[in-house]
Amino acid sequence: MEILLAKEYGFCFGVKRAVKTVEETAASANGPVYTLGPIVHNDEVVAQMQALGVQAKDSIDEIDEGTVVIRAHGVPPETLDAARNKGLRVVDGTCPLVIRAQQLARALHDDGCQVVIYGAPEHPEVVGIAGWAGEGSVVVQSLEDVAALPRSKKIGVVSQTTKIPADYQAVVGAAMGKCQELRAHNTICNATAQRQTAAVEVAQQVDVMLIIGEAHSSNSRRLAEVCAQVNPRTYRIATADELETAWFVGAERVGVTAGASTPDAAIERVVAWFQTQRI
Ligand code: SF4
Repeated sequence: MEILLAKEYGFCFGVKRAVKTVEETAASANGPVYTLGPIVHNDEVVAQMQALGVQAKDSIDEIDEGTVVIRAHGVPPETLDAARNKGLRVVDGTCPLVIRAQQLARALHDDGCQVVIYGAPEHPEVVGIAGWAGEGSVVVQSLEDVAALPRSKKIGVVSQTTKIPADYQAVVGAAMGKCQELRAHNTICNATAQRQTAAVEVAQQVDVMLIIGEAHSSNSRRLAEVCAQVNPRTYRIATADELETAWFVGAERVGVTAGASTPDAAIERVVAWFQTQRI
């Protein structure tokens, strides 16, 4: 069995930076250290953080003292204010590319645009961007959502960083029909696009394609979607424990990639699994 790894996979620079920020903060802080939500959507990494004494909390309401680290997804400005008003030390691990999307959304709002954010409304990154975009911003998930928007004089559009570029282009095109003036910023992250391109390249060459990433990792799910479009034998798994030999019957080549929140150790365990099997 030949294993083909995608050229780009696993932790993106924003996640590496956020994890390093938590590790450095845990090593130097006086008092308890928290992250607002899990630092990445990966149970193994969350367990590593817990071993360093860092606890994940869902809300500032649950934190009364110490340091709170903002993860790569970012938060609305109200959350930063709430933390500072409680006297908490805030260490901002927001990915610089997410900060750019937040700032562009705010600038569009300040310029009088109806701000439209393409993304999943419940995703923390989108919640954060919507907070920076201020009152009146809307989140759209589909062309149908765009079609339902009222007409506006000026519309400004940004995207969740992990969206598929072609889908975002279609949303921007549809928004054009809803206004006199349209401003659209490309806020899709290159790391995401590069991982998707590299994953599809491999998926086209192999019998079976594996995506390593947890179900609640949106970029891992996207990788599985784009690979499944070119290779129906695509499987997303959280860990090597979920692998099933039946998936690989008759397969000579297997492709492997991983979401931006998947640590290298999880990928290595999947590759090692094939050395222990007789398929
Ligand atoms: S996927 Fe891109 S935008 Fe998101 S954290 Fe990683 S580098 Fe930043």
